[in-house]
Amino acid sequence: MNQELSEQINNVKSVLEARLSTLEDKRSILRSVELKALYEQIKTLPDENKAAYGQAVNELRQQLSQLVAESESSAQALSAIDVSAPFAINSTKDRRPGLLPANSGSEHPIMSEQAKILDIFKGMGFSVVESREIDDDWHMFGALNFPEGHPARDHYDTFMTTQTDVNGKQWIAPAHTSTMQNRILEHYKPDLENGSPIAVVIPGRVFRNEDVDARHEHTFYQMEGVYVGENVSIGNLIATLKVFLESYYEAEIKVKTQPFYFPFTEPSLEFSMSCPFCNQAGCRVCSYSGWIEMLGCGMIHPNVLKFAGIDASKYQGFAWGCGIERFIMLKHGIEDIRLFESGRLDFLRQFSLGGGGEQ
Ligand SMILES: [Zn+2]
Repeated sequence: MNQELSEQINNVKSVLEARLSTLEDKRSILRSVELKALYEQIKTLPDENKAAYGQAVNELRQQLSQLVAESESSAQALSAIDVSAPFAINSTKDRRPGLLPANSGSEHPIMSEQAKILDIFKGMGFSVVESREIDDDWHMFGALNFPEGHPARDHYDTFMTTQTDVNGKQWIAPAHTSTMQNRILEHYKPDLENGSPIAVVIPGRVFRNEDVDARHEHTFYQMEGVYVGENVSIGNLIATLKVFLESYYEAEIKVKTQPFYFPFTEPSLEFSMSCPFCNQAGCRVCSYSGWIEMLGCGMIHPNVLKFAGIDASKYQGFAWGCGIERFIMLKHGIEDIRLFESGRLDFLRQFSLGGGGEQ
C-alpha cells in the first residue's frame, strides 16, 4: 500500500478519535461518513493495493470499536451522584466541596404574570379563590347546565380516574376553571342576599386530552371570573374585561364581541380586543387582522344560578374564562406554549429578576 493511502487512513483515525470524546452516542462513530468513505474507496483502487488497504481500514474500525466499548464500560462504572447535595460533592478538582450559586432560582413566568393579573382584579374589588385539580361530574358538567349526553361535553375531553365517586362517576381532572362556579355561587349566596354582589376570580390549572403542539398543551392555566348582582348587564361584562385588558397590556384598546355557544352562559360571546402591538395596522401577532381573540364569556345561564339556589328572577351575573398562557404569550412574544412546562432554564431565566445569573 502506498504512503498516500496510509496517510489518508491515519488522518481519518485522528479526526474520529478526537470526535469520539465529544459524542453522546459513541457508537455513531462507527457509522461516520469518513469511515464509510474509506470503505467506498476500496473498489476504486488497483487490485494490488486492495488487500492491504482493506485490511488497514478494518483495523481502524476494530480500534474504534474497542474505544467505543471501553467508553461504554467506563460510563457504566461511574458511581451514583447525589443531585440533591447542596455542594459540589462530585467535584474532582479538589477535595473540598464548592458551594453551588444561590442565585439560580426565579419565579415561574406563569406565577409572576398571574399575580399581576390578579392584582388588577383585586383592584376592581374581586376576591381570589383557587380552583382545584380533581373534581366530580356534577361540578364539571351538571351544575354548568350540561345534561347527561349533551354533545357539548365532547369539547371538554380530559383525563379521568378509574376510581369513582359515591354516584358511580369517575373523578375528573378539570378541563376548565368553570367547575368552580357552582361552589362560588353557593358560598357567596348569603353575601349576595345581604346586598353585596359576588365578585370572584378563580385561577387554576386545567387539563385537556390534546394533540400537543405550539398552541395546545395538555396542562395549562385558566382564570375564571364570576360576577353576580342586581341589574347586571352585558355592558358591565364588556367594561370589566376592557378595563382589565387595557391595564394588563398598558394600552388603549377597542373590543369586539361575536356570538358563541356555551351551555352555562346565555348569551355567550367570544371576546376580541384590537391589537395593542400594532394599533390595528396589522402585524404577526394579530395575523394582520388588527384583532385578537382573547376569551369566552357571557351572562350566567339562569339554570346555573338556580342550581346554586340563587333567585334568577332577581339576580343576574356574568362570567368569563381565559387562558393565562395566552395572555403571557401575547405580552412577551412567546410562540410556543410548550416552553412553559418544558423546564428549559434558558426560557425561564429570561423572566428572572435581573435577567438571570450565570449558573
Ligand atoms: Zn397587530
